[in-house]
Amino acid sequence: MASGSASSGSSGTKAVVTRFAPSPTGFLHIGGARTALFNWLYARHHGGTYLLRIEDTDRARSTDAAIEAIFDGLSWLGLAGDEEPVFQFARSERHAEVAKALLDAGQAYRCYLTSEQLAERRQKAQEERRPFRLDSEWRDADPTTWPEDQPYVVRIKAPRDGETTIDDQVQGAITVQHRELDDFVILRSDGTPTYMLAVVVDDRDMGVTHVIRGDDHINNAFRQLVILRAMDAIEGGWPDPVYAHIPLIHGADGAKLSKRHGALGVDAYRDEMGLLPEAVFNYLLRLGWGHGDEEIISRDQAIEWFDITDVNKGASRFDMAKLQNLNGHYLREAADERLAELVLPRLTAAGYEDADKALLARAMAELKVRAKDLNELAEGAAFLFAKRPLALTEKAQKLLTDEARSRLATMHERLSGLSEWTLEALEDNLKAMAAELELGLGKLAQPLRAALTGQTTSPGIFDVLVLLGRDESLARIHAQASVSAETQS
Ligand code: GLU
Repeated sequence: MASGSASSGSSGTKAVVTRFAPSPTGFLHIGGARTALFNWLYARHHGGTYLLRIEDTDRARSTDAAIEAIFDGLSWLGLAGDEEPVFQFARSERHAEVAKALLDAGQAYRCYLTSEQLAERRQKAQEERRPFRLDSEWRDADPTTWPEDQPYVVRIKAPRDGETTIDDQVQGAITVQHRELDDFVILRSDGTPTYMLAVVVDDRDMGVTHVIRGDDHINNAFRQLVILRAMDAIEGGWPDPVYAHIPLIHGADGAKLSKRHGALGVDAYRDEMGLLPEAVFNYLLRLGWGHGDEEIISRDQAIEWFDITDVNKGASRFDMAKLQNLNGHYLREAADERLAELVLPRLTAAGYEDADKALLARAMAELKVRAKDLNELAEGAAFLFAKRPLALTEKAQKLLTDEARSRLATMHERLSGLSEWTLEALEDNLKAMAAELELGLGKLAQPLRAALTGQTTSPGIFDVLVLLGRDESLARIHAQASVSAETQS
């Protein structure tokens, strides 16, 4: 749990550099956003730098739209990089240069095994029921015997003896025996670098000191260290980073997070669900990390408290209801002007073209306490801009009995005579009327609400009257009261 003390990663003199390295093959999903958040927080906590790298080497699957969505989602969450992002594909030549240095130093070799040969060997191992481990005869071949006219891949010479232990900041110490590592490919036969090589070279060149990423990359870390240590032996200056592999996010039912659980793009949280970035930020922060029982944690507080060693080792569960509750909290905290700005386009899109920001902002204090997200806020605000005759919900319709409609007629008459259209004047007048009729105020407020908003729930009735103003209020009351007059005549 949270200790509040400085992390072990800060003990060196080197400034902390973290990075978030998404592959732009899909949207920025919620797990990726949390990885970005932890990288950002760790860097901020230690006064370091947080970088972005777009891992766009998979040319077939990387798209500009995904890159845009990633930048967009990150800026929305306040997690844009501290420097210009690095694009991995653009650095292919540098990656190939490192592969060449490894080849020249005898730390890598050209492997001419064909895919057919590899498949045969794999099948043979399967038939003999032993695990397949590549043992290329090219590993120790003299470079002078390398054919120049045949296709080859470049493989790293992985160590065969000994073991490597990673002191993972989240998972603890993990050891892998070197005999379990194979001579994996670093350059493909078309000369393009593999992901394994590109990550190591980029992290080193970007000065990354702490690699914080999903725990699906743990096995890669051991292979990446093979490249790193080989380069360090060749030219020095390729230090091991500190690793922190954070667990995946699961759905509320414990299953791997899927669309059904909310594994959507960050844009869906913003656009479709109408959540505020500070709520998503706070929620992601608490997903697998905590500080005592604190639920509401500001950015500054998070920076002060966060440490990667306090991240839980077990998978965390995504809980949509919790996220919505947090969002309700942040809605109530948010400035009315800002909320009006956010809700306005939703109303316009819903057909309320005359929706007015100033009126929305004035209504916001009353509206936001009744909503958990921007959609509910827009729904709650819609009555302000509805055109007469208002559409009534079924419940509102039921409320407007003949008796209720005749009371509306009376209210219309009395309210028309008011010299001042203020909260106090309206309240005094309606309370006096209720007393005279020997009715509870609710008996007047309910039909009034139905007539003014078309609904049975809304902000306080006097607020509604003031927000709509005298003319619109009276017109809406009249529209419902007059029905009564007709049916009674
Ligand atoms: N591009 C990888 C991914 O999106 C991350 C690689 C890394 O963080 O080292 O899963």
